[in-house]
Amino acid sequence: MKRPELYPADFDDGRIDADAEKVVRRLTRHGHEAYLVGGCVRDLLLGHKPKDFDVATSARPEDVRALFRNSRIIGRRFRLVHVLFSAGKVIETATFRRDPDQRSAGALIRFDNAFGEAHEDARRRDFTINALFYDVERSQVLDWTGGMRDIERRTVRTIGEPDVRFREDPVRILRAIKFAARLDIGLHPSVYDAAVQCRGALAMAARPRLFEELLRLLRGGASHRSFWLAWEMGVLDVLLPELSAYLSDDEAAARIVWRTFSAIDRETKSRGAPLDDIVLCTALLLEPMLEACDGDADRVSAAYDFLEPVVDRLNVPRRIAEAVRRIAAMAPRLEAGRAGRFARTELYPLAMQALELRAEAGATPTLPAPTPKKKAKAKAKKKRAKSDAAPTKGTDRI
Ligand code: ATP
Ligand code: MG
Repeated sequence: MKRPELYPADFDDGRIDADAEKVVRRLTRHGHEAYLVGGCVRDLLLGHKPKDFDVATSARPEDVRALFRNSRIIGRRFRLVHVLFSAGKVIETATFRRDPDQRSAGALIRFDNAFGEAHEDARRRDFTINALFYDVERSQVLDWTGGMRDIERRTVRTIGEPDVRFREDPVRILRAIKFAARLDIGLHPSVYDAAVQCRGALAMAARPRLFEELLRLLRGGASHRSFWLAWEMGVLDVLLPELSAYLSDDEAAARIVWRTFSAIDRETKSRGAPLDDIVLCTALLLEPMLEACDGDADRVSAAYDFLEPVVDRLNVPRRIAEAVRRIAAMAPRLEAGRAGRFARTELYPLAMQALELRAEAGATPTLPAPTPKKKAKAKAKKKRAKSDAAPTKGTDRI
């Protein structure tokens, strides 16, 4: 079916970004097809404020580039054009593309680089609600995939068989969760079931993409619902078994984590912007990590042991992992108001934000670490014991 369903939709109330509209109009004036596409159309229809506005067009990247002086071609595998406006605004303008020819069930898509027509570009997308095109000139939505019906029913449904689409690209499972949570809509039962069934495939997805999607779940102001869904569906078992087990094992402990997510969402909404990634990652892992550090004299290496498999599994950037580890190790001192020199580090304000979320969630402060005096005493005692046992060895670590 190449003819789309057409739905009149009037967004002429200033909700469409003026620059995005300019891009579309200039492209169409020069004889190309051009539409607003993807997340912005979905968000406008659901009454949300779009994060950004993307354009899809029949024009090739070079043609787009030639029409906008303030633009540049980006991407190697699939080239698209960034049209730049003031205040760092970017209107991403992509040429219609279609799926690679050989789509077979169960295959991971590795190449996604053939130009196509508008209807093909709609069908290659992940969910029907993400595949709606908006014609600015005619004020109408073009729908090739039944997306309008799903907008009305407020449901996330894949284009095509969900298990095929999830096996092609398992990250779509996280995207489904993200959209359901953030837009406060449902997962179609077939999508829910396929996601549960295919969740193991997430272990095969590109690790940096997994980490990025996890961050998006935390950043969007709906982390509570996102992680609840991920936990309930068993998706969290695959990504963060440490956290998943912690949530399942002890109801009272789990409550602190769930309340932390609520605190993250409240803070995100009141700021109108996401919290720092370091704060988010710390908040995500702090409770199980503190438990792992509990009672360990060497908190730094206990935190390290806890984090290492997570870092491997999700390709957490070193910068973030290191920060999370230091905050976890410092937590008892910080909660006891003994920041010391740490208070002058760049990490300090982020650490305090993470611990405030924890406090807001009702967690009791972690046990303070031994005071320096006590520590010195303990060391002296240890030293004495050692020298008693092996009086000739002078290699005590102090
Ligand atoms: P957000 O508001 O979070 O940016 P979005 O829908 O714009 O949501 P993007 O990740 O920016 O999501 O992607 C833009 C569009 O590209 C999506 O709306 C979807 O149509 C398509 N898309 C993105 N990722 C995939 C994917 N993994 N498989 C198929 N289509 C995808
Ligand atoms: Mg987007």
